[in-house]
This record gives sequence, C-alpha cells and structure tokens, in this order.
Amino acid sequence: MNILILPGDGIGPEIVAVADAALQALDRRLSIGLKLDHQVAGLAALQRVGTTLPEEVAAKARDADGVVLGPASTEDYPLDQRAGINISAWFRSHFDLYANIRPSKIRAGVPGHVPEMDLIIVRENTEGFYADRNMVVGTGEFMPTPDLALAVGKATTEGCRRIAVAAFELAMRRTKRVTAVHKANVLRHYSGLFLKQVDAVAKEYPSVKVEKVIVDAMAALLVRSPEKFDVVVTTNMFGDILSDEAAELAGGLGLAASLNVGDRHAIAQAAHGSAPDIAGKNRANPVAIVNSTAMLLDHLGAKHKDGQLKKAARLLTEKADQLLISKITRTPDLGGSCTTNEFGDALVNSIVGA
Ligand code: ATP
Repeated sequence: MNILILPGDGIGPEIVAVADAALQALDRRLSIGLKLDHQVAGLAALQRVGTTLPEEVAAKARDADGVVLGPASTEDYPLDQRAGINISAWFRSHFDLYANIRPSKIRAGVPGHVPEMDLIIVRENTEGFYADRNMVVGTGEFMPTPDLALAVGKATTEGCRRIAVAAFELAMRRTKRVTAVHKANVLRHYSGLFLKQVDAVAKEYPSVKVEKVIVDAMAALLVRSPEKFDVVVTTNMFGDILSDEAAELAGGLGLAASLNVGDRHAIAQAAHGSAPDIAGKNRANPVAIVNSTAMLLDHLGAKHKDGQLKKAARLLTEKADQLLISKITRTPDLGGSCTTNEFGDALVNSIVGA
C-alpha cells in the first residue's frame, strides 16, 4: 500500500511526524505492507522549487493509494496562482474528493463540553459557496460595484446524490440514522435540490431512518442534545461550520480528524488549520492527524478488502484514545503538559508493545 506523506505548514511537520512514526510502528507490528513516500508541499516546497505544489508531488499523490496531508498556511502563499496553489483545495477539486468525513465523539478522560456524543458529519466537499472552486472559469464571488458583493452557491444533482449515498452507506455500517441539514426554507433551490436527492437516495436504503433539520436549529441541537445524532449529511459550508462546532464540543480542534474521499483517491487531513500561534513549539496535539490517518487505513482496508489494514486502523485509534485518558499523555490544549514528540513516542511504544 503506497502512502504519500506531505507535512504541510505551521504545526504540520510536527504532527505529521507523529502519524508517520505511528504508521511505521503499525507496519512493524502487523506487517501491513506499507510503502511510505515522504515529499514536501506548501511553504517548504515554495522555498525550494518556487511552487507550493510541485508537479511531481501532485503526480505522486495521484499514483498513491492514499495521502497523509498536513495543514496549509494558505494566507502566507503568494497570490500568483501557480506559485501559491492552495494544496488542500487543489486536491479536493482535482481528485474529486467529494466526501469530507468528520467524526466527533466524547472520549474517556477528555474534557468535552457535552456528556455524550458520537457522530459523523458527512460534508459535501466540492460544491457549495466555496467561491475559489465552484466555477470552471472565474470565481463564484464578485463585486459589480465597490458597494455590492455577490457570492454564488453551487449545488448539482449528481453532487448532492453522491454525498447522500456516502452518508447512507456510512449509516448502514453504524446505527442506520441519517440527519440531513439544510436551509431549504430560504435557499429553496440550492438546499431544495440537496433534500430532493437525499429523499431519492433514502428510497434505496429503506432500513435507514431519515430526519431533516434546518441548519440554525442544528447549531443549537448540537449543543443541547448531540447524543441524538449519528450520521449528519450536509452541504459544504454548513458542514465546515457544524463540524468545527462538534469538534469543539468534543474537546477541541486538536482532536478533529477528517478524511477526504472520492471514488479513486483518499486524503487524511486534520480538520484544523496550521495553527501558526503554536507552530515549532512542540505543543500541538497530533491526535487529529493520527485519527485521520486511522480513517485512511480503515478506508483502504474496506476498499481492498484487507482485514489487516482495518485491524491497524482500529489499533491506532484505540491506542491514541487510551493515551488521552491520562493527563500525563495529553497535550496542553487538553489540559496536559505532554509535548507533541512525547505523545508520538508514547504512541509508538504502545503500538509496538501491543
Ligand atoms: P484555517 O483557517 O487554516 O482552518 P484557523 O484560523 O481555523 O485555520 P487553526 O489553525 O485551526 O485556525 O487554529 C485555531 C486555534 O486552534 C488556534 O489557537 C490553534 O493554536 C488551535 N489549534 C489548532 N489545531 C491545533 C492542534 N492540533 N493542537 C493544538 N491546538 C490547535
């Protein structure tokens, strides 16, 4: 299994090093046949070769079975489009990674803001109100006059259908409940198209219970009774916002894992950003990227019907969760004093000694 490792910017190199070491430890322990290829993208690549995404790195990503990608400090990228390619957006659109899977759960020992929660947000990843990627030519955001700004939201029948399928498939492997989050009371056509596809796909999964919730109500319900939700499917921007809310309820962005999946490619990428305020300080929480990497292994295990990869995925999340129980192995964002490196060492020891 070929995995490309791209550390990214800010805290990326520190946290991705932990995921990388964990993959190597899993391979030693379970002989899962991993071939890890280490390349650079982002500001390090810009410095070396003048672009944040060199062509050969993009080609390697295309050939790999999966990618572990660190966060990007896109605000520091040059405006020139070739030099300052937004890596994350590029992969999502060029590899058609239409499903962004973002789990959030309350874990033993971790100080969260709600007593109970174990849900997965399935966020559409290629359409919506993301102005920089929803047009073939030009952008979806424009200003006809200095005092008028307009933004276009994109929803297609196929885009809505395939994200609904991803959610229902996931629900079949969990508790067979899907919540579709929308704003069809205002965005009658945009959210309406989404709901129409959810209804159409639901007919193919009669054993799955479906409910529909308006996005503003959902923001409140997530705080009030998150335990009531299991698989939550929604369009791009609603998913972005609600998943950050869910991550915060579960203990913070440092735990926010995510997998970007398309029909051919999959990229593990933490839901948080490059956290420049703590970059280089050895205090970033690597759990989000570690659990994203576990999601990638699980996805590849299911895709290739490889039980060992699925076992490796389970072991990795189990070991990371176990370390979080003790304050000694929690990073400062979770009230501990463990460094990123120390967490990595503890994780590797725990995997190898398992
Ligand atoms: P982006 O716009 O790129 O998503 P952002 O503006 O949302 O980034 P982040 O980089 O995600 O911001 O950081 C938000 C806050 O969360 C910062 O205070 C940062 O230090 C903290 N944070 C993010 N990721 C982690 C992590 N892995 N460990 C500890 N703290 C983190």
